[in-house]
Amino acid sequence: MAPFSTRLPIAAVTVALLSVDLLSVELSAQSPEAPPPQSPAAKPATASQATAARFEFPTDDYQRGLRGRGNFGVLITAKGSPFAGSYHLAEDVWLPAGTKVRSIGNGVVRYSDFSPSWKDDAGVVHWNLGNVIVVEHALDPPVAGLTHVCSFYVHLGADRRVALGDTVQKGQVLGCIGKDRSEENGLYPAHLHFGLHRGPYHQIPPSWRREVETMARTVGIVGDRAPVRGEVEFVRQSPSSVLVRSKGDGATVLLSLLVGSTAPEHPPADIMAWCSGYGDRQTVDEWLRPSKWIAARIEAESASSPASARAPK
Ligand SMILES: [Zn+2]
Repeated sequence: MAPFSTRLPIAAVTVALLSVDLLSVELSAQSPEAPPPQSPAAKPATASQATAARFEFPTDDYQRGLRGRGNFGVLITAKGSPFAGSYHLAEDVWLPAGTKVRSIGNGVVRYSDFSPSWKDDAGVVHWNLGNVIVVEHALDPPVAGLTHVCSFYVHLGADRRVALGDTVQKGQVLGCIGKDRSEENGLYPAHLHFGLHRGPYHQIPPSWRREVETMARTVGIVGDRAPVRGEVEFVRQSPSSVLVRSKGDGATVLLSLLVGSTAPEHPPADIMAWCSGYGDRQTVDEWLRPSKWIAARIEAESASSPASARAPK
């Protein structure tokens, strides 16, 4: 499919920096049909299984593959790189092509496709990332205030094992690291680019929230009737839209939710900009350092389980 070639006009949503593309509409439409993440058959939390942490690393030898501290949050300085001046928002895991890549936890597949190179309306080229999978994980109970995280598996081979909407279990094989510098992996050296984004798949990323707030405070946002000005609040309307309301006079405007970009230099809302893995200084805060977060989950959940203390022998 060619998810980026068509845009659907959404009559009630007219702010230039926020637009819904065909992909997001497809995803919204499919979400209700997706199997529930916690169907009775898939329920993991029996007492006897309570010793197991809810998360694990996406590959064997993950730590070794990081080659040290990993490159999360590193500023790209290489001259000539299309990403120079931006921050790397994931960890590159240097393991051989064909290495199995597994879901880090139970969740729902929100993206599973090949990502071609494409050029947005501003002429910015978005680079081919090869085969990409995104899984959304509900956190129940929440972890440090987070109700969801999304895991990103980028530069995979063509043999993806899951499809959009699939429910997956922790440890389930999603695919493999793609072949070195191949079309299937986006022409990169063989490695896994693995990211952990704070929050559910459908959301307004904080950086965009800030932009909307700033716009309201300064020039105002053109609404259906009066412009929305001053301090605003956000009211979620649906999985794909949010109402922005002035705290002063109550004027409102309905905006479409971004599916993607957290980087101001990539204004079109799309999954590829979101998981291209690069952003500005503020954007770094929207992402988690994967090796640290997963290790902390494994340690905390295994240690705190009463079942581990009761384990026989
Ligand atoms: Zn990377």
